[in-house]
Amino acid sequence: MAQQFASDNYAGACPEAWEAMQQANSGSLVAYGEDEWTARAAQAFRTLFDTQCEVFFVFNGTAANSLALASLCQSYNSVICASCAHVETDECGAPEFFSGGAKLLVARTDSAKLTPEDIRSLATCRSDIHYPRPRAVTITQPTETGEIYTPDEIRAISQTCRALGLRLHMDGSRFANACASLGCSPADITWKAGVDVLCFGGTKNGMMVGEAVVFFDPALADGFDYRCKQAGQLASKMRFLSAPWVHMLESGAWLRNGAHGNACAQKLADAIKALPGVDLLFPVQANGVFVRGSDILFEKLRARGWRFYTFIGGGARFMFAWDADPARVDELASDIALCSKDDL
Ligand SMILES: *Cc1c(COP(=O)(O)O)cnc(C)c1O
Repeated sequence: MAQQFASDNYAGACPEAWEAMQQANSGSLVAYGEDEWTARAAQAFRTLFDTQCEVFFVFNGTAANSLALASLCQSYNSVICASCAHVETDECGAPEFFSGGAKLLVARTDSAKLTPEDIRSLATCRSDIHYPRPRAVTITQPTETGEIYTPDEIRAISQTCRALGLRLHMDGSRFANACASLGCSPADITWKAGVDVLCFGGTKNGMMVGEAVVFFDPALADGFDYRCKQAGQLASKMRFLSAPWVHMLESGAWLRNGAHGNACAQKLADAIKALPGVDLLFPVQANGVFVRGSDILFEKLRARGWRFYTFIGGGARFMFAWDADPARVDELASDIALCSKDDL
């Protein structure tokens, strides 16, 4: 199949992650995360974030988010999120399931970015015994629509959280893209801005599989290892979840991969933004481009072999991973130009 941009998960694994798998595949090592690779990976996160965080490695983002949120909540609590948050729309109720019933409180706005006002109004609309007690806020960085929270915006959100007694979780399934886009350090948009727990995506960043759950307040990590085990998320051969992180972080591949995806998204956006009949649904700030167009345009693109989803905002979504081929991005841009032209 020619390269497609329907999802960043269409990509294979990057050489750095693959190489680490190869290296980790030698000899006998202690199981269940007591091995050297896992210790090195956790240390690499502490170096990257410049703090003594607690790190856990799980298989996918749904597990990372759900278990992280579950660790912040009792079953009678609630979690504030945006209406298009992955936890709300794409996790099959896993956050509610793993927390034993904590309810997601969805902001009634179309924006993928939560504001301090959204949080305040949801957290304070009720305080009686009949309503689940708000305990956490989750933000996605970058958002599901490819937008970025600035460090100031995150700080404003975390200040609101602190004032209301809420913990702040960040779904960073594309966290590397956010760091590359902002050009700031990972610490600046996490613990230094008041984030308590980060789910750092490895899969969309170029690994075969795996996400890291990073607790900046070590007290919150208490019992998280048991939670992972109970949820079927404790890898017995943990080295294969942790070793790729060592190479990804130490070689800088994590950030290069993110920057490459972002640059390809920008390349497509620049090539199509002035076309008649074509609009960008959201500002292009990370590795995704959302194209608003007619049904006929989308049909024609599909007929030319392009795959894409339209489940967010009705636009065609194109996502660019570490392996996106700029020549293929050009092909997509010229097909969009061609199809939008005969559409007029
Ligand atoms: C891809 C993604 C995840 C992780 O999804 P899994 O398929 O469970 O690995 C989490 N959050 C967001 C915003 C995502 O795009």
